[in-house]
Amino acid sequence: MKRWLDRLLGRGAKEEAVLRDVDRERVRFLMTVREGVPTVDWGMAAAWLEKETVDEVERTHLHRAVAAAWLDEVRDSLEGDYRRWRHARVEGLGSMERRIAQDAAEGADRSIRVIEEALGPILGGEKIKPVAVVALESAESYLTFIAPYYPDEGEFATSGGQYNAAFEGSFPFITLPVIGEYESAGVIAHEMTHHALAEFGLPLWVEEGLTQMMEERVTGQLMFRFDEEMVERHQARWEESGLEDFWTGASFLSPHEDEQELSYHLSQLLVRAQLQRDPARFFLFARDCRLKGSEVACAEHLGNDLDAVVWGNLGG
Ligand SMILES: [Zn+2]
Repeated sequence: MKRWLDRLLGRGAKEEAVLRDVDRERVRFLMTVREGVPTVDWGMAAAWLEKETVDEVERTHLHRAVAAAWLDEVRDSLEGDYRRWRHARVEGLGSMERRIAQDAAEGADRSIRVIEEALGPILGGEKIKPVAVVALESAESYLTFIAPYYPDEGEFATSGGQYNAAFEGSFPFITLPVIGEYESAGVIAHEMTHHALAEFGLPLWVEEGLTQMMEERVTGQLMFRFDEEMVERHQARWEESGLEDFWTGASFLSPHEDEQELSYHLSQLLVRAQLQRDPARFFLFARDCRLKGSEVACAEHLGNDLDAVVWGNLGG
């Protein structure tokens, strides 16, 4: 009864999780302060974990415990009132100003629930893996925190936040600044989707289409707009620059005019269209990206002329 009521009220039944601790002193040798920010040498951590235990499950718990110790260290290095939280799938760190930590904790848990359900046909029953969420109270503290990782691999920089994928043994993390009245749930949902799909080998345009749809689903705010003006802007943009950079993902980082903005928009347009037309086929395509590689999956399910798919959707 209580669980049912919790769920009805959106409080969610508490998920069971093994949360191991490791004495910070024991793992401090794995940490280095880089550009003023504590970081972990994950290569060294992997070697240490291997020596600690032969049990793989235990090693996964201990790996997370190292990340927890690292975030404790980061909390103590930050100015202002920062708190840590540990939920089933999230190691969190956030500012106590303006309810930033509380909102981020709720937003991350909600994102996990919503994404697992909505993208279930792609995830195929796989659970979203534990991830760190760091919600900072200013643009300055955000830029300071991400500086040691920039530029790096497996990283998605958007205006509002960043996801650093697990890379050579590292613990994946989402970082975001929460400025003014701005709501963090959308950015967390976006980056959490990158995290959920990190190992699926999707082309960036597919992944970014899905991240934006999940933003809307988690926040309940519909932001996607597709009207005559957008059609004209797309036609002008892609006639001029061609779609090559869109397919490779380069245009998502482009500083050139409105290329970046329109890349995000186009990705959402295409993914929405595919999902509307034939969801089963789209999900099969997404799963095949992991199994066969995205090029083969594209050719098999979307055809050999991807440009034609775009122009078809733009009415050209
Ligand atoms: Zn993104």
